[in-house]
Amino acid sequence: MSKTAQSVLAAVPSLDRLLRHESVAPLLAAHGRAMVISASRPVLDGLRETLTHGSVGMPELASRIQTQILATLRPSLRQVFNLTGTVLHTNLGRAPLPREAIDAMVAVAGGASNLEFDLASGKRGDRDTHIESWICRLTGAEAATVVNNNAAAVLLLLNTLAKGREVPVSRGELIEIGGAFRIPDIMTRAGCRLVEAGTTNRTHAQDFETAIGSRTALLMKVHTSNYAIEGFTADVSVMEMARIAHARDLPLVVDLGSGTLIDLTRYGLPKEPTVAATLLAGADLVCFSGDKLLGGPQAGVIAGRKDLIAKIKRNPMKRALRCDKLTIAALGAVLALYGDPDRLAQKLPALRLLTRPLPEITAQAARLLPALQDALKDHAEISLLDVKSQIGSGALPVDLLPSTALCLSPTGKRSGTALNKLAAGFRALPIPVIGRVHDGALLLDLRCLDDETAFLEQLKHFFIP
Ligand SMILES: *Cc1c(COP(=O)(O)O)cnc(C)c1O
Repeated sequence: MSKTAQSVLAAVPSLDRLLRHESVAPLLAAHGRAMVISASRPVLDGLRETLTHGSVGMPELASRIQTQILATLRPSLRQVFNLTGTVLHTNLGRAPLPREAIDAMVAVAGGASNLEFDLASGKRGDRDTHIESWICRLTGAEAATVVNNNAAAVLLLLNTLAKGREVPVSRGELIEIGGAFRIPDIMTRAGCRLVEAGTTNRTHAQDFETAIGSRTALLMKVHTSNYAIEGFTADVSVMEMARIAHARDLPLVVDLGSGTLIDLTRYGLPKEPTVAATLLAGADLVCFSGDKLLGGPQAGVIAGRKDLIAKIKRNPMKRALRCDKLTIAALGAVLALYGDPDRLAQKLPALRLLTRPLPEITAQAARLLPALQDALKDHAEISLLDVKSQIGSGALPVDLLPSTALCLSPTGKRSGTALNKLAAGFRALPIPVIGRVHDGALLLDLRCLDDETAFLEQLKHFFIP
């Protein structure tokens, strides 16, 4: 080892000396000995490798250790700006919760609650009761139960009512939702056998009549949430399927996907079948998600006939799929908002974002443009662009909502690398900004930008990593 290398190493303090130094004392007080030691090791290693010109002072070392600790402590799951243009984005956490739901979670999070305790009788209660009366009131169902998500609801429902038996489903409804949720696979896992009825584009009542046999447990209809069949098509309505099922004493279950509780056309959105209308048309059970169009927490609701719900609740699988108290608190608060449909579009963020007027979004884009041009002047040319936002989560795939995006084209040559770096720069901000890449540009669709101030405030940190 050369003389200089030796002196360089000598300039690196020992861990012991570092921990005893006054500059490190506040870190020990704030984060504890274990955190400081584990953060110090890489800092000292880095020092040994890069130390060529002079030593580094203790205060500087302490500051590097602090940076290391803060990086370790930063939560892995954190807030981002969803500027993808997809309002209910599955990868970005789907529906934003209303204040009422957040308050309801906070109220029960830190202590004991009557989750499964009946305050009137003083006896053991049932966690479903906290949401069941709201579901029944809003959908006309006799009874309801709730599990972790709609995939769990489908699994539980089929496992309870059709295990070891057959379930006819239209070939046009054998969908994949994404994330490995495929109707045929979930049916296998539930222990029932799929009987395919009809063809991809056309299924008729007769196809169900022939598909039904002595081993049939129920008929199932699945909302083809994320795709649309157009052209020469036919499908069997809920009412007609109910007639066929009931003539043979079989229940009809409908997986609605997005759980729409009210007619969305009154808010200028495309028509979706509501839970109430589906039950009224003859479905015996309907299941749907809590965090899609409903605008609540991740959950799966099963609503309908009391005797069937009672069977489902007795399945031991229900225990494995049940929701926690935070979900139940949030879902109850969201359902209560539906009691006042006139104010729903103001109070429920998912609906507010879906119905945001185009002029408001465009005005916001125009307001943000100069600040963004200023912050990114070396990196991108920015203009406003008319775009279409998506509802997302498989809801209403063909209907798009007019919106405005900030369109960022990398300056210089329009290379994919420059574009990727631009997008990475936005993801590296304190509150990461997620846009979408389209046609050589990064689009920031402003439909879901609520906190304009926070967005602007952090632009000063923008850098290309
Ligand atoms: C989204 C969807 C599911 C899965 O619901 P999760 O709440 O995401 O588990 C199941 N069926 C249909 C038709 C869907 O659209």
